[in-house]
Amino acid sequence: MTLREDSVGVEDLVLLEPLEEESMLKNLQLRYENREIYTYIGNVLISVNPYQQLPIYGPELIAKYQECTFYELKPHIYALANMAYQSLTSRDRDQCILITGESGAGKTEASKLVMSYVAAVCGKGEQVNLVKEQLLQSNPVLEAFGNAKTIRNDNSSRFGKYMDIEFDFKGSPLGGVITNYLLEKSRVVKQLKGERNFHIFYQLLAGADAQLLKALKLERDTGGYAYLNREVSRVDGMDDASNFQSVQSAMTVIGFSEKEIRWVLEVTALVLKLGNVELSDEFQANGISASGISDGRGVQEIGEMMGLDSKELERALCSRTMATAKEKVVTALNVVQAQYARDALAKNIYSRLFNWIVNRINESIKVGTGEMKKVMGVLDIYGFEILEDNSFEQFVINYCNEKLQQVFIELTLKEEQEEYKNEGIPWKKVDYFDNGIICNLIEHNQRGILAMLDEECLRPGVVSDTTFLAKLNQLFSKHDYYESKVTQNAQRQYDHTMGLSCFRICHYAGKVTYNVNGFIDKNNDLLFRDLSQAMWKAKHPLLRSLFPEGDPKQASHKRPPTAGAQFKSSVAVLMKNLYAKNPNYIRCIKPNEHQKRGQFSWELVATQTRYLGLLENVRVRRAGYAFRQRYRPFLERYRLLSRSTWPRWNGGDREGVEKILGELTTCTSEEITFGKTKIFIKSPNTLFFLEEQRRLR
Ligand code: ATP
Ligand code: MG
Repeated sequence: MTLREDSVGVEDLVLLEPLEEESMLKNLQLRYENREIYTYIGNVLISVNPYQQLPIYGPELIAKYQECTFYELKPHIYALANMAYQSLTSRDRDQCILITGESGAGKTEASKLVMSYVAAVCGKGEQVNLVKEQLLQSNPVLEAFGNAKTIRNDNSSRFGKYMDIEFDFKGSPLGGVITNYLLEKSRVVKQLKGERNFHIFYQLLAGADAQLLKALKLERDTGGYAYLNREVSRVDGMDDASNFQSVQSAMTVIGFSEKEIRWVLEVTALVLKLGNVELSDEFQANGISASGISDGRGVQEIGEMMGLDSKELERALCSRTMATAKEKVVTALNVVQAQYARDALAKNIYSRLFNWIVNRINESIKVGTGEMKKVMGVLDIYGFEILEDNSFEQFVINYCNEKLQQVFIELTLKEEQEEYKNEGIPWKKVDYFDNGIICNLIEHNQRGILAMLDEECLRPGVVSDTTFLAKLNQLFSKHDYYESKVTQNAQRQYDHTMGLSCFRICHYAGKVTYNVNGFIDKNNDLLFRDLSQAMWKAKHPLLRSLFPEGDPKQASHKRPPTAGAQFKSSVAVLMKNLYAKNPNYIRCIKPNEHQKRGQFSWELVATQTRYLGLLENVRVRRAGYAFRQRYRPFLERYRLLSRSTWPRWNGGDREGVEKILGELTTCTSEEITFGKTKIFIKSPNTLFFLEEQRRLR
């Protein structure tokens, strides 16, 4: 058996000849055109989005992949899922599956394929099936509230997600834990041209029956809502009304009570209605302009739904209380400030609702602490972003990707080299770029960009995005991976693409220019206390519970952690979690910008393969060995093939393996190397041969 190397290119880029960017891209293109979307680099899976349903999924194929080892069948996501699940159950190693790629590359679809594979192969029985159903049904719920149509992807995840699936010692699922990262909450109040708000709003309006709409005081027409983009209300191929039914039944399966589902819908409706609260200038006697609510009925309805006196709501939206040590001063907000407060409230309610939903799902799928667990983590998180205008959001997203690249480097490249060293095998050094210095530039506890941002947010006196930038310029003027207009001017480089309010980071994946406008505000992420206190006074049980800090008894003057600090610490937890597991990689690639089947845009793919460091990955793999295993399990698996080791073998493990290989193969020492504890085999073909022999027995 050999690797199929014919009209559809090589299945494993390790076998590519000659190895260079062009041949790698040609190979991917050839395969893509032949509808072969999966390709390996050793045990890393590359997946190119087909933008069409291919007949390569389903129970029959799952059964086939379940019976085979990794390289036996065509490259497939099932093979990767199988390998991870097998080593979880038989070798007792916790696994994680890291899925990366840019928006629209197919990460979420890949994560669902992994989950459906695992669900199909792991255990049976009523209780187990219920757990599986709950885990699977978390997807439509999270997608309804966390996904939206964007220019790049009709079903784009606007949050990052990490899910631990937990198994018992037999490999049956017990439950899981979902962690979500940074929901793009600005979308609640504003969307770019051609984009939509989160799916749930449209689903609710299209799918709710007349009675429900009336109860929620909504109108069916999306055009009537200021928070919903007027030019796009529908997405081709997406049935909002029927999805609304699926979301509700998914929530029921997970264990949301009818009452809870109703609460969630009420809060969702409230957010929509808040967008229609019109604020206008009212003239005050002392000549200072102040805002008021011009549409009394709307706010009345919202107040009723919240269980809050509408006067109270109006006060919270249109004024601000400053408490000093001695007294409280109430100032009126002008229209712009009041609109800002209204939008901040809507964004906060929605993002807290999202967190509440995630927590509620976790409550249902939680596993008792006493049980012995094996864990498989699945990470579906936004890829590296370079937009025309990059802000705080891109900055933290790219920071997260920088950290993931570090995991990748450390776990695959470094560990690979380390392993050879430990095993006493000669190793030709492969140079790779260590991005630790960039991670440090961002996250260093005292001197990183995030620390500087926090310092600026907490510093008394006049702070602004500009003072923040000045601080960075001063501190990093000599940093190799930092640039700005100021540092460029000092070095007499005149780059017209860089604005005065920008700084640039040379990320591992390329240079990105960030505009500092809004950094301070977004990092502070403060909701005026008047608003949280008003929400806490509301009688609506769910709404009220979302604002615990509004309780005057709880109100502390300690500042909540900044958005940047929260993100950094959740990334740190994620990293710790990933480092404790055996990683499996799925690298997703978007073949074109048009969400179209069959189109392979060379330049676009080239850029992504560079971001993903694929060529480097192949080089390291090639320099090394495709397969390695400890002597004992190898011996156990292939013992029956050799007369010396079957039926009885009394010698050492390593000697046994030597006997088997010596008898069955004519491999050179180049092809097979004996390490201190493991056997290393260069080409997968040798392994195919052994597997074939084993099957013939
Ligand atoms: P984002 O970062 O925006 O969330 P993503 O990487 O999660 O993007 P997906 O939502 O998984 O991207 O994929 C985008 C679309 O591409 C899907 O809605 C689907 O139409 C198509 N697609 C992705 N993977 C596959 C696949 N394996 N088979 C068929 N279609 C696919
Ligand atoms: Mg996604």
